[in-house]
Amino acid sequence: METKKETRQFKTEVQQLLKLIINSLYSHPEIFLRELISNASDAIDKIRFRSQTEPDILGNDAVFRIKIVPDRENATLSIVDNGIGMGHDEVVENIGTIAQSGTRAFLQAIEEAKKKDSLTPEMIGQFGVGFYSSFIVADKVTLITRAAGEDTATKWESNGDGSYTIEETTKDSRGTTVILHLKKTADGEQDYTDEWTIRDIVKHHSDFVSYPVVMDVEKVEPIPEEKLIRDKEGKPVGNTTQKVFAEETLNSMKAIWAKNKSQVTDDEYDEFYKHISHDWNPPMERLHIKFEGTTEYTALLYIPSKMPFDLHMREPKHGINLYCKRVFIMDDCKELVPEYFSFVQGVVDAPDLNLNISREILQKDSLVKNIRKNLIKRLFGLLEEMDQEKYDRFYAEFGPVLKVGIPTDYENKERIAKLLRYRTTKSAEKYISLKEYVDRMKPDQEDIYYITGENLTALLNSPHLERLKDKDIEVVLMSDPVDEWVVQGLQKYEGKKLRSAEKGDLGLDSVDDETKSQYSALFDFIRTRLESKIKEVKPSTHLKHSVACLSGDSYDMSAYMEKILKATGQKAEPAKRVLELNIDHPAITRIKALFEHDKGDPVLADYADLLLDLAVISEGGKLDDPARFSKTIGNLMAQALVMDDFVETDAVEV
Ligand code: ADP
Repeated sequence: METKKETRQFKTEVQQLLKLIINSLYSHPEIFLRELISNASDAIDKIRFRSQTEPDILGNDAVFRIKIVPDRENATLSIVDNGIGMGHDEVVENIGTIAQSGTRAFLQAIEEAKKKDSLTPEMIGQFGVGFYSSFIVADKVTLITRAAGEDTATKWESNGDGSYTIEETTKDSRGTTVILHLKKTADGEQDYTDEWTIRDIVKHHSDFVSYPVVMDVEKVEPIPEEKLIRDKEGKPVGNTTQKVFAEETLNSMKAIWAKNKSQVTDDEYDEFYKHISHDWNPPMERLHIKFEGTTEYTALLYIPSKMPFDLHMREPKHGINLYCKRVFIMDDCKELVPEYFSFVQGVVDAPDLNLNISREILQKDSLVKNIRKNLIKRLFGLLEEMDQEKYDRFYAEFGPVLKVGIPTDYENKERIAKLLRYRTTKSAEKYISLKEYVDRMKPDQEDIYYITGENLTALLNSPHLERLKDKDIEVVLMSDPVDEWVVQGLQKYEGKKLRSAEKGDLGLDSVDDETKSQYSALFDFIRTRLESKIKEVKPSTHLKHSVACLSGDSYDMSAYMEKILKATGQKAEPAKRVLELNIDHPAITRIKALFEHDKGDPVLADYADLLLDLAVISEGGKLDDPARFSKTIGNLMAQALVMDDFVETDAVEV
């Protein structure tokens, strides 16, 4: 057969990442085996699932197993599976690359942590490195794989030094073999070809893998009677025992979710979590429940301690594996938990489920619906009972995911609302619940005030909040894009309306008609000047110290929402906004005086433009024409300074 061998480069980031993995995991090198066994087990899960609809796919290779083959002489360790295997393109996609955007973001986070001296092993663990962990113990890795139903196989090989080769090859049977060419071990280091070392690692990290992990081990057996040589007296001559190699299963394959809680240690729970989640960090929380009643089922669920950084940047996973009487049915079972719990990992084993169930039927299945309902209830219970320190950690990682439930799950909206946490104008450091907010509302305060925006500092200092602060009214600060949907979905909390602090009337003080009419001529002039950009000019009910701000009608889109939609490439027709001017501010009263003195003074147009610019800047917006802004300010400064008698008029050039 003619084979084409190609050499390809890893992305630069991959090399950096490999170095990082190797350096940071030197203290736990043995976990490479868990990662490879997990991959093998996943690959068998996949073929098993496919064989339910395509029984012929298994051929005569229907006994699933993962074999470990140590070879001390050649210093290699192979992990062989008869799983689904990979085609050429899959190898390139899964093994040869790491999605660049994800890697770069991750490496940046690492660099920053290093600078701040806050790099922890957990940070690296967050990035499930899987297959690449091979390079902790190997200086060369060869992967030979044949996809189910294909005739040819693919060989991938790399020294982990920047490039890999890929070529077509042959392989007798379906599945994947990973050959690790082990690094030379120094004295005192683990020898990964040693039988007892391997037994220990498998027992500790992969005991519950649901397929046999086997290895040929040397055994001493009695020599069979017919082969024994005996002397005249019938006594055996020479050895009565012999050394043989026999396959032995190293793992117990006990499904830990099927055991009683008292029979499972914390360590076993954690190891199982690592196996299913490919996360290296121990979980934050676990929930092991047996439901008994009309239908019985078991669930073992985990909440990770960190949001995983997906190396391959695939679709976000719903990490629940569905089993029926310990037989794997499918991974990533989206039907079992809603999207806002998509960070939950675990196993559900439902004995009454139809084994051949398809994803389509699953959605309508009443048992699945029932399980989902119960899991949601229990997960809420778990979160509600967490102590504050833990809940804060949880919320910092998964708060933005959980919030998605407010606009998407009407039934549980109230329960999720209780779990929301925000910073406020009175609690800028610490997150508080909406209940805490409501409990300390002013006696005559009717609504919950909130403001949305990108940046917490800008929000805290937003001119929109001046009046509210002056009246000592607390405002909820929302700086997560999802919050825009949260406020739309929630509308009310404990009967109190959520009221935007930047849009519409605040319901605080209103300006009486007489005062309004004194300003109407000037405001008309400004509105006409700025007609293409704003829809109205009015005396502000928000401002106390600043001179101008922009606001919207209560049904208008917020400035932040507009920004989000723009950033995601959606067309957002920018709504014209209202320019609010602070009529108590001396600048406005003086402009008014100037206007009344000479309506034709050209400087009035400059002031009108400036007022809008100031309003835009104060909410962190970008000016359409910053050059014009700075020129106008320069001119105004010059004029202001001329008035001071210590400056010579002719010294100023404008
Ligand atoms: P992860 O297992 O976290 O997805 P890995 O880097 O370990 O990350 O593996 C990347 C992908 O390569 C897997 O998702 C899978 O598609 C494929 N893969 C790895 N090992 C095997 C195997 N033994 N058999 C089949 N596919 C595999």
